[in-house]
Amino acid sequence: MDILDKFQGSLMGVAIGDTLGRPFEGKLRTEIYSIFTNFEDFIQNKKNLFKTYTDDTQLTLHTAEALIRGNGFNLNNFISEYVKWLDDPPIGAGYGCISSINKLRYGVPWEKAASNSGGNGTAMRIAPVGLFYYKDLKGLKSAAIKSSVLTHSHPAASAASIVIARAIAYLIDKDPKIRFSVDQFFDVIISSIASSQEEIWEEFIESLNKLKSNLHVSIEAGLIKFSQIGVKSPFFIEDYLGHAFVHPYAISTVICSIFLFLKKLTSFKDCIFELATAGGDSDTVGAIGGALAGAYFGLKNIPNDLIKLVKNYKKILKISEELYNTFNVRY
Ligand SMILES: [Mg+2]
Repeated sequence: MDILDKFQGSLMGVAIGDTLGRPFEGKLRTEIYSIFTNFEDFIQNKKNLFKTYTDDTQLTLHTAEALIRGNGFNLNNFISEYVKWLDDPPIGAGYGCISSINKLRYGVPWEKAASNSGGNGTAMRIAPVGLFYYKDLKGLKSAAIKSSVLTHSHPAASAASIVIARAIAYLIDKDPKIRFSVDQFFDVIISSIASSQEEIWEEFIESLNKLKSNLHVSIEAGLIKFSQIGVKSPFFIEDYLGHAFVHPYAISTVICSIFLFLKKLTSFKDCIFELATAGGDSDTVGAIGGALAGAYFGLKNIPNDLIKLVKNYKKILKISEELYNTFNVRY
């Protein structure tokens, strides 16, 4: 298995999913599908719509840089990389990240800076942790939690980060020509957050089990079912109940991303197109699902025109390679 190819595939997957999903953020899935008949042609004809990625990719790259500089998780490196993001400047930033990182910039200790957000802002940037720690599952869990609570103190955000990092670690050494066991995939990600005292983590496991037993439903029906799963009053988006419109809550976004990834295991392209057009928080579903798809299919199975569509794609490949080299020396 070419592990470097998987590292590059996963981070490129984040960037492609984010770039393709960005124009559709805040739109219903039905609305998105009324815009084009063939998504591939639409991308080629409307390249201007896809000229940038957003905060998901920006923070993923900063996470990778922090791991490279620290040879693994180091609190100060993470804080300084996230603070650097404010000068990128942030594109389409979510509340949880921007409010907490602004406080970190002014020296507020992270325990006080973190917002109580349970949003998807930490799962969307976790791919480098899943890659770097794929052979060290204890380290993976610890780094996923520590990197998450820096900005989001809500337990749903840490659980979502662990689940996605663990899923990436599972997929990285799977051969895309040989289908993996979906049952085993669920066992692995569920046990990554099992036996905890957190009520929300128990709820997350229930949602994952619900997903597992509903994989046969159509994509539209599944998204309608899972778009706001776990979301509590008053955070429901009432107008979108009963629609395919993925809520930015950590649990609903992760469930929908895994759902679409598992529904479209035919190719990277099929998978990423479905993810980026999910509806609702489309860029983040694209980024999270793209991290999984890229870790599974690897860079060599990503079409060149999709890679070249991404802003700074050479820089992303280079950072992925540096992350791989750091991993290789350490493990
Ligand atoms: Mg975004």
